[in-house]
Amino acid sequence: KFATLSSGRLAAGEMEIQKGISAVQKPIVDFHGIDEDLIQKMVYGALVWTSLHGLVVGDRNVQRSGKLPGVGMVHAPIALLPTLSPESHWKQACELAPIFNELVDRVSLDGKFLQQSLARTKKVDAFTSRLLDIHSKMLEMNKKEEIRLGLHRSDYMLDERTKLLLQIELNTISSSFAGLGCLVTDLHRMLLNDYGENLGLDSGRIWETLQHCSLLRHWLKLGLNIITLGLKTLAEIDSEGQLLPDGTLLVDGQTVAVVYFRAGYAPTDYPSESEWRARLLMEQSSAIKCPSISYHLAGTKKIQQELAKPNVLERFLENKEDIAKLRKCFAGLWSLVDSDITKKAIEEPELFVMKPQREGGGNNIYGDGVKETLLRLQKEGSEEDAAYILMQRIFPAVSPTFLIRDGICRKDHAISELGVYGAYLRNKEKVIMNDQCGYLMWTKVSSSNEGGVAAGFAVLDSIYLT
Ligand code: ADP
Ligand code: MG
Ligand code: MG
Repeated sequence: KFATLSSGRLAAGEMEIQKGISAVQKPIVDFHGIDEDLIQKMVYGALVWTSLHGLVVGDRNVQRSGKLPGVGMVHAPIALLPTLSPESHWKQACELAPIFNELVDRVSLDGKFLQQSLARTKKVDAFTSRLLDIHSKMLEMNKKEEIRLGLHRSDYMLDERTKLLLQIELNTISSSFAGLGCLVTDLHRMLLNDYGENLGLDSGRIWETLQHCSLLRHWLKLGLNIITLGLKTLAEIDSEGQLLPDGTLLVDGQTVAVVYFRAGYAPTDYPSESEWRARLLMEQSSAIKCPSISYHLAGTKKIQQELAKPNVLERFLENKEDIAKLRKCFAGLWSLVDSDITKKAIEEPELFVMKPQREGGGNNIYGDGVKETLLRLQKEGSEEDAAYILMQRIFPAVSPTFLIRDGICRKDHAISELGVYGAYLRNKEKVIMNDQCGYLMWTKVSSSNEGGVAAGFAVLDSIYLT
């Protein structure tokens, strides 16, 4: 048996549904009322489906996993059933994607804005400082990126109290799981086709994310060099890479058209100078970088906070409606220079999240940690405060769910987060593509602060439109 479940008590009126007597009923909002035998059947079916359809990820427990393709795979962490959620908000998130794409592009062209906004951070954050150094070098040599490619993911939570869709962050580098989202929707649709009648759920209400597949095709086309070259580590690029005087990047003797980064966003991705040399080499080249150093910096949390200040969006965008749409999804964001806010955050730390300039999950500070860190920074009086931003904590609705990881199904209360993918391709003045490219929902137990799937906190999910 895969599932280890504590027995759930049945809510009155659900008996009938479980016996399969009734036709499609009102959705069972309390998933925890579903009969345990049925859950175990579905868990088994879901696990079989994941292996048959490639809804898998590398298995950290297998030593050779990740080193050799096809070796050491395990089913992706998944929610057994989709999350019930209102339609209007997710449509709004899709509408925002092209506007954020354009914003990133505009911000990336303003080298001074990036350097100035991150100037204090640079003094105290060695990693951001190295990225800014590469950026400065590009400004000095007047490097122009004429073809610009962005593959972004803007993440949101639905704030329960205000019913507002609020942005968590915008990822401009290594936005992951684009390929798995559509598989999760397919899995949930399959389960509801088979069991929906018993559950009172209609598989037709699962929000389609088919466009993922077109995004993937798009990526493959653009990333042909990845296929011919295979994946390269930064260290390999340092040893095999060569820059010709005309800007052509050669790796292993082959011309590279597009560099897509699956790493390079965390300090641990640069264990030696070799990796930094590779990053600089690629940036100096005429290959299309996804992301370029400017796109990468435009996605930092400090820039997110600067963009939320009054009148900053107006510097980059003309369309007033677009500006209003973006602003509506901004949560409260502050630098620690704001003493009124730091005072409030010390008094009520549970209402804030403190974020350093890091990616990949597991780096933020919550609750008492916020208070302790702010008090320490005040006492020390150093400039280390510039490493962080403060953000209003968002509280989404909590719903009963089943989370499956490593073949074990856990019954718990969870909150969900939505990522909407955006693709942007531009050649000089011509925008070739600027679109949303599907969504990914992920769900984590409500008692956990952080939300990364890869970081081990959350499971992949889909949306059941209500
Ligand atoms: P990273 O770039 O490391 O993914 P995020 O800003 O996305 O950083 O934060 C990681 C996770 O922390 C998010 O996925 C979310 O679950 C949680 N989180 C971040 N900001 C907030 C917030 N303002 N309110 C509530 N949870 C948040
Ligand atoms: Mg991120
Ligand atoms: Mg994130």
